[in-house]
Amino acid sequence: MDVTEKQQTLLRMLPGVDNILELAKADPFFNDIPKSVLVRSIRTVVENLRTIIIDNKQDITETKLSDSPIIEKVKNSVKEMMTPNLKCIVNATGVVIHTNLGRSLLADGVVENLLAIASRYSNLEFDLSKGVRGSRYSIVEDILCEISGAEAAMVVNNNAGAVFLSLETISKGKKVVVSRGELVEIGGSFRIPDVMAKSGGILKEVGTTNRTHLIDYENAIEHDTGLLLKVHTSNYSVVGFTADVSLENLVTLGAKYQIPVMEDLGSGTFVDFSKYGLLKEPTVQESVATGADIVTFSGDKLLGGPQAGIIVGKKDILDRIKKNPIARALRIDKLTLAALEGTIRYYRNIDREIDSIPTLRMLTLPIGYIETRAMELAKMLENIDDSRMFVSLIDLSSRPGGGALPLLKLPSKGVGVKVQGVSVNFIEEKMLNNEIPIIGRIEEDRFIMDLRTILDDELPIIENAFDNMLRKV
Ligand SMILES: *Cc1c(COP(=O)(O)O)cnc(C)c1O
Repeated sequence: MDVTEKQQTLLRMLPGVDNILELAKADPFFNDIPKSVLVRSIRTVVENLRTIIIDNKQDITETKLSDSPIIEKVKNSVKEMMTPNLKCIVNATGVVIHTNLGRSLLADGVVENLLAIASRYSNLEFDLSKGVRGSRYSIVEDILCEISGAEAAMVVNNNAGAVFLSLETISKGKKVVVSRGELVEIGGSFRIPDVMAKSGGILKEVGTTNRTHLIDYENAIEHDTGLLLKVHTSNYSVVGFTADVSLENLVTLGAKYQIPVMEDLGSGTFVDFSKYGLLKEPTVQESVATGADIVTFSGDKLLGGPQAGIIVGKKDILDRIKKNPIARALRIDKLTLAALEGTIRYYRNIDREIDSIPTLRMLTLPIGYIETRAMELAKMLENIDDSRMFVSLIDLSSRPGGGALPLLKLPSKGVGVKVQGVSVNFIEEKMLNNEIPIIGRIEEDRFIMDLRTILDDELPIIENAFDNMLRKV
């Protein structure tokens, strides 16, 4: 593509990095800005302008290339670089356990304890009763056993790590029997067959996608079979002409041939959700009581705690897992451990404490409460009093997310916004670029916010974001 004369003129006008650096020296705004940040910002601004000129898609005038608009751009870029990359956002998607948005929020009480542990020395690996070195795994082992009914427990970095470590310990070089209906992929490239291969276990698929019978497992058992594995199909559901083998039957089969049985519950919960009017998910206690040798699950899905992988089960196998040198590479960090312990403690009294754990609270919010807050938000937006804006209350269904309860649609309430003369994509972009970004979705040409996942103190943030946007359009 030829560069036109106008483009050439503009490119020549583009100031050099050193020139802008000189200009910045005269502006007190940049006094305390580290040089590395300033130089990176200037380079970014100049590069962006150069691209805009060369692409020739946006109208750009010579005045935009003069000192003060360029310094203004550099200031904005500096401000952005000086704010942390990991920041709080408003989750208006209605997806409660949203993996991209950090899955579960920690309970207030948990955060307090976390802060204390973060800034002090602790008995992380120190046995206070003996005054000698201890194990970090013992911090939550007792309470995990108390609540799950298991003989032993251990925690690692995440459930993917828990599955890998368990397979590596139990079935390296041996066959692992799994139903074809349970060879799941979880977002972010966790696939049972791949994890199996990396762990050294040899996958022995049985049955079909929709139907697997006990006899399929039994026929697959050979002298070198090391494990019967059941994977909870947590993020999808096979419906119609289906059959799978219950954990109970697998446990009986395992006992007959003296082969351990492991269940990857994925989400994992200690709560029977059917008590709260939601669909039933298998609980950890049930899997343990049924006799699974090993059960693995996540800390930050339905449990509502920090990212972690929890392994509960028989003591002899857990002793081997704890001694596996790979455990060190997957070990849980002390901040996570503090948050996990705090979260699990709530489960001693979960009927009373269900609202203390944000994930559980959001999943069980009464629709009337969500509606009241939707009305409140709608009113706040209407009070901005801009005749171009159309605010509506809408019925929605929210999803639990996090690969849990895949079929469950939770009735919810939301607010939709349209602005005359402004595209809905523009609204979405402005909300994403808000100082505290607001993640919603677009439906029927409206920007939609689901009140299930929006915290009470976030309503003014949304109001401000729309107020700011309307002032500028
Ligand atoms: C989510 C999930 C995993 C992975 O757990 P992470 O904690 O995300 O590592 C493994 N297996 C199943 C069945 C899952 O649902």
